[in-house]
Amino acid sequence: MADYLICGGTSYVPEDGNTGAQMFASGEGLTYQDFIILPGFIDFTADEVDLTSALTKKISLKAPLVSSPMDTVTESEMAIAMALCGGIGIIHHNCNPDIQAQEVMKVKKYKHGFIRDPVCLTPDHRVSDVFEVKKRHGFGGIPITEDGKMGSRLMGIVTSRDIDFLEPNSDKLLSEIMTPFDDLVTAPAGVSLDKANEILQRSKKGKLPIINEHFELVALIARTDLKKSRNFPNASYDANNQLLVGAAIGTRETDKVRLQMLVHAGVDVVVLDSSQGNSIYQINLIRYIKSTYPELQIIGGNVVTAAQAKNLIDAGVDGLRVGMGAGSICITQEVMAVGRPQATAVYKVAEYARRFGVPVMADGGISSVGHIIKALSLGASTVMMGSMLAGTSEAPGEYFFSNGVRLKKYRGMGSLEAMECKGNSGGAADRYFHGEGDTIKVAQGVSGSIVDKGSILRFLPYLVSGIQHGCQDIGSKSCSMLSEWKQENLELVS
Ligand code: GDP
Ligand code: 5GP
Repeated sequence: MADYLICGGTSYVPEDGNTGAQMFASGEGLTYQDFIILPGFIDFTADEVDLTSALTKKISLKAPLVSSPMDTVTESEMAIAMALCGGIGIIHHNCNPDIQAQEVMKVKKYKHGFIRDPVCLTPDHRVSDVFEVKKRHGFGGIPITEDGKMGSRLMGIVTSRDIDFLEPNSDKLLSEIMTPFDDLVTAPAGVSLDKANEILQRSKKGKLPIINEHFELVALIARTDLKKSRNFPNASYDANNQLLVGAAIGTRETDKVRLQMLVHAGVDVVVLDSSQGNSIYQINLIRYIKSTYPELQIIGGNVVTAAQAKNLIDAGVDGLRVGMGAGSICITQEVMAVGRPQATAVYKVAEYARRFGVPVMADGGISSVGHIIKALSLGASTVMMGSMLAGTSEAPGEYFFSNGVRLKKYRGMGSLEAMECKGNSGGAADRYFHGEGDTIKVAQGVSGSIVDKGSILRFLPYLVSGIQHGCQDIGSKSCSMLSEWKQENLELVS
């Protein structure tokens, strides 16, 4: 096993340890298991370690953790939990585009701050309509306006408590059960979020409608969101205080329609999901996205060499996803004879991409906190995980028991099972096959199961704390210090 020394504050002694350049010079491919990082000097506490890290050129995260776009890993529930804990989830595309867009919207609707597009109803709607909204969106606090839209005169509000004891199919008019305007606590348009939150707290109500001088509804604030902000101070937000979310798409013509729906749903970043990303299809799609949706961030990949990375960087990607054959459920290297050991892939691509300011995400093969620290130390600024996060309560799918152990399914997106997933026009088969005419599918992944890991909301803080302790041992006070490797400070021992 090779020793790898990262510069540890003032502790650097030149004759001890390998530099990254030396370690990878022999041309032999290394995995995360093949090297270890030497300890540095500690002059700070672990909780002082700043894990803020770049996902793309324009998006940074408080925790460098990304959940993989796999149908047994990331749908809205996982993406919400990831973002609340400072990371981000990438919604898979092994489903129809409208379903994927709905999942994105669920994350964006899980709001903090001002809700500027609240679902409204009119006084003439029925109780059954409120139950319908609750079923669809998960909330039952609904402002009642003159014409049932935002921007019209506020007439009252209906909350879950107003309908608690009513039948879901009740045709009672909302005008009969709503709290009327005169009894509402409201705040004036233009109020700051802090001030509005203070009014909401003092009022002890669940919702605070914000109205203009014509009594028209301009926004809504929910008490639940105050609690969410307090409980998750490191959550990943966009400029509008909504959680960040990503989505994966393929590189076919039909994916442009999918993309349009995702953009409409508010997606912050798209991941171009190809196992071998260095293709004319991906380059063309990157150019198309950059000209059609210039604000949208794009992560291209997967790549494992600088030459592959160059093409995607030249085409305009904002981030790169690195890994081919490293995943725990992956058999690509056996079946296709193509790929690269993951530590070398991350190091080589990161070394190239950093010259252009393009962040690198190390995808696959992460099975411990130590692997995350190693990936970051090789130059990755985030890691993407599948098996580490599968088996949590937020991962899609039901638990089942086998030999008394509580498990959840986890399968490769290139497994026959995922590619043959019925009833969708999506993604898994597209990722592993380029030709429209591919009729025989060769599996590049397998199916398995993962033991119950409990909730992401507990597991991610554990990972974050583990990374902080690793950085402390290395002597790195921040993620960026770790990944900005100082090559001149690394020495060969081996
Ligand atoms: P409710 O009492 O059933 O409305 O639910 P809560 O207030 O406990 O939670 C509602 C959550 O949904 C909050 O986090 C809101 O920010 C979020 N949300 C997103 N869009 C809307 C919306 O249009 N209306 C409402 N009421 N909440 C929304
Ligand atoms: P893990 O974290 O489980 O080690 O790896 C997850 C990663 O493996 C995913 O993010 C994706 O890049 C890759 N992957 C997912 N499914 C398959 C598959 O069926 N075959 C291959 N070759 N890679 C897969």
